[in-house]
Amino acid sequence: MLKNIQNTDLYEKMVTWRHHLHKYPELSFDEKVTSDYIASILTANDIEIHRGLAVTGIVATVKGKKSGNSIGLRADMDALPIIELNTFDYKSMNDGKMHACGHDGHSAMLMGAAVYLKKNNDFSGTVHFFFQPAEEGGAGGRVMVKDGLFDMFPCNSVYGMHNWPGLEKGYFAVHDKEVMAAVDTLDITVTGRGGHAAMPDQCIDPIVAAAQIITSLQSVVSRNVGPTDSAVLSVTAINAGNAYNVIPGVVHIKGTLRYLDSNIGSMIKDRIQTIVQNIGSTMAISANLTVTPSYPATINTKKHAEECAKAAASIVGKGKVIRDLPPSMGSEDFSFILNASEGAYIWVGNGSVPDDQPEGGCMLHNAQYDFNDEVLSVGASYWVQLAYNLLK
Ligand SMILES: [Zn+2]
Ligand SMILES: [Zn+2]
Repeated sequence: MLKNIQNTDLYEKMVTWRHHLHKYPELSFDEKVTSDYIASILTANDIEIHRGLAVTGIVATVKGKKSGNSIGLRADMDALPIIELNTFDYKSMNDGKMHACGHDGHSAMLMGAAVYLKKNNDFSGTVHFFFQPAEEGGAGGRVMVKDGLFDMFPCNSVYGMHNWPGLEKGYFAVHDKEVMAAVDTLDITVTGRGGHAAMPDQCIDPIVAAAQIITSLQSVVSRNVGPTDSAVLSVTAINAGNAYNVIPGVVHIKGTLRYLDSNIGSMIKDRIQTIVQNIGSTMAISANLTVTPSYPATINTKKHAEECAKAAASIVGKGKVIRDLPPSMGSEDFSFILNASEGAYIWVGNGSVPDDQPEGGCMLHNAQYDFNDEVLSVGASYWVQLAYNLLK
């Protein structure tokens, strides 16, 4: 049986590990000091590790007393290019880098679970602990899979967990299907002919065409996507010109597209292509669209989501396991791992925004965010319980 990790040595250790990781954040695929630190703690606890998948990735393995199935539990290790505004003593020492998504907490919880299970291995089977790099845009999960994660460490099922500000601490949220959206990036280049702003008839003005494209894109989600389906299309950058009296020759537009259902995603991309092409030809200007797929949607399998909910309920009680939160239109590269193996991804509450912080102070990717230490024992206990339940 799982003993409550709160008020134990292990809890204190997880806090120490988390603060250390928070103090020395590193960006995607550059998590060298982070990876060394995690590896040193694991090996000091006699846990077998493999290094080098996806550059800085670590896979730790703990075997139970008897043989059986294998499961994979995953944490991410990378930080963000944000200047931290917190002032506590473990604030970032690496200028312009910050653990603003709680991956310090995710790593510490998974290290805690590995250490606990190593000492309490009364289960049948094997637990692989994946510490992956580059969740924040670098698709470290995809690289881990491509580098042979499941060839080397076959798993019957895999599980991920992310902290969720706004969900009270001591709560979990488990989705039966979609949890996080797919994301594609959009680049639109409108190329005209620049010239004197007083002589527009001598130019082909890309600004006016770009404005029409951007306005027309606003109708795609509102008019073409079903009212109960989810999609987001946001234009996020427009670059052109730098003078009052010059019509520029080219406009670059950037944007992001997010959706839960790939059929809806395909339909939207077709609509964007039609709009860009047709406005280009109407305005007699060259307009080109490039869509770059980033992360696929993170979609749970119901059977595994039920296992997650059951394990979470054993830790915090059934009433604190929320089963009907809407999915997020954010994205997550655990999707690549879930596409290669069955499993589920859950959210653990990081707490609400404290009254003494400015609004948004504890939201993900905010310069004042911090992972909630009180969640460490909840999350690590969940991992341990999930392993015991699945490897009986
Ligand atoms: Zn993030
Ligand atoms: Zn994150």
